[in-house]
Amino acid sequence: MRPLIIAHRGASGYLPEHTLAAKRLAHDMGADYLEQDVVASGDDELVVLHDIFLDRVTDVALRFPGRERRDGRFYVRDFDLAELRALHVWERMHADGSPVYPHRYPAKSGDFHVSTLREELACIQRLNEQTGRRVGVYPEIKRPAWHKAEGVDIAPRLLEQLAEFGYAERDDPVFLQCFDDAELRRLKQELECPFRLVQLIGENSWLEAETDFDALRTVAGIKELARTVDAIGPHLLQLYQLSETGAVATGLVTEAHEAGLLVHPYTFRADEIPAGFESFAQLVRYFVVELGVDGLFTDFPDQVLRLSFP
Ligand code: CA
Repeated sequence: MRPLIIAHRGASGYLPEHTLAAKRLAHDMGADYLEQDVVASGDDELVVLHDIFLDRVTDVALRFPGRERRDGRFYVRDFDLAELRALHVWERMHADGSPVYPHRYPAKSGDFHVSTLREELACIQRLNEQTGRRVGVYPEIKRPAWHKAEGVDIAPRLLEQLAEFGYAERDDPVFLQCFDDAELRRLKQELECPFRLVQLIGENSWLEAETDFDALRTVAGIKELARTVDAIGPHLLQLYQLSETGAVATGLVTEAHEAGLLVHPYTFRADEIPAGFESFAQLVRYFVVELGVDGLFTDFPDQVLRLSFP
């Protein structure tokens, strides 16, 4: 059976991540869900960007020299929406300005801009109306504890904006994701979020949240998670190990399924194939057919859709 295809930051293998152009392309390609990473501007607007920083995906250092913090990074939170709109969004770069994915959209070029969450939701709604499809949304609350310390609470604003666009029921095409387990519990219990929730699972070394990801990945941790969320979003390397005979399941998919959770691993990239696999098709087939994942985050929705699954 075909997995659910979540366009990771849009069709980001082809156009700069999180631009409306990348979202339109993913919609056109036939993705089931489009992902939005949500961060807050200085004037509390929700914008769609992967990081709390601007320097790896925009020309901020050229446009606003001297506006970096002491760590040398330019923070979305230090710019109001009008300033963010003045930036060009570029293909993702390393700190030295070289492209992270050299065969993608040409570095430091193109006329792409930051969009607000509202603009993106409106774009998806319009495309859905025009095409008769119902492509879903898959927003991620980025760094909720950090944002609260900065004086802005993303979760209630996000729920309000989803409601504005008519998303209201559990069966509506929305998955809401977060790395922070405390924020997901709050969404469920306190904010009475009607949508399906996804616990993203990272590594503790990433310092993405206070969450203890090692504890979440135990059998007891997974069972406990099932009280709050509907799915887990693990890193793909957390689902298999390499042995002499090839890839072997770690058991996380089975444990999650036994607890009633869906499994949507990230990130499947045709230009970044992990050890043990020779092609993108082989990688995707292993995860879908052998491991039985229910969906996957990919930068290349078209290449997953082109595959056939038994
Ligand atoms: Ca994300």
